Amino acid sequence: MQEEMVRSEKAKIVSEMAAAVAHEIRNPLTTVRGFIQLLGAEGISAEKRGFYQKISLEELDRAQMIITDYLSLAKPDPEIVEFIQIQDEIRYLSNVLLTYANYNNSQIETNIALDEDMQIVGDRHKFRQALINIGKNAIEALQDGGSLTISAKKREGMVVIEIRDTGVGMTEEQIQRLGTPYYSTKEKGTGLGTMVSFTIIKKMNGTITIKSKPGKGTLFCIQFPHAYAAVGSMEEVAAGKEQ
Ligand code: ADP
Ligand code: MG
Repeated sequence: MQEEMVRSEKAKIVSEMAAAVAHEIRNPLTTVRGFIQLLGAEGISAEKRGFYQKISLEELDRAQMIITDYLSLAKPDPEIVEFIQIQDEIRYLSNVLLTYANYNNSQIETNIALDEDMQIVGDRHKFRQALINIGKNAIEALQDGGSLTISAKKREGMVVIEIRDTGVGMTEEQIQRLGTPYYSTKEKGTGLGTMVSFTIIKKMNGTITIKSKPGKGTLFCIQFPHAYAAVGSMEEVAAGKEQ
């Protein structure tokens, strides 16, 4: 009896993991598919070809990273702590999201303070995964002709990232359910994207504020402590490595 319970519990965890991996792998695969399609267009410039190729390779690497992440979920892995340049990351994010936006005629705008020092610390690959999941939801919420705006600025020792869409929006009750596993209103949704994003952001000492109105759109405001605030822990990490 006892053993049977343990076995069915294990089977449940395995199938949950499989669903999560499938979900997370689908994002980079969709991106790569979009770029391979673009590569097949006639008269494409060498510059564009190089760019599409670069992003495709990065996304394939990301897929590989995700698999590694999930396979190592059971093991307590040493936290990766590196400096993350927000300007670079926003540019990367908008390029990745463009491939999704192309499908539904929507627009992506970025609004970044270029001259500000906007660095945070954390695991870059997990950070990318967190923002792509939120950005992808924003794109999927858009109806034809809608827009997505990504902005980043520094405010009182924090780096503030805003992802705003003019899409379908959410009710208060729907907002409350965000981040809980398997909550999805989509036909082919898995309801794992926001759960993964929220977990990563919280691990990085970030906070998430959501404002939304049905029919109007949604704003995700994500705040992280600036790298200065985290430098103490960076030094600890460096010291730990030397020993
Ligand atoms: P999935 O995208 O597979 O449905 P997620 O966890 O990524 O799973 O999202 C859960 C649900 O949250 C979505 O199905 C959608 O109803 C809602 N949602 C998330 N972001 C937005 C947004 N920007 N606008 C409207 N609804 C959203
Ligand atoms: Mg999603």
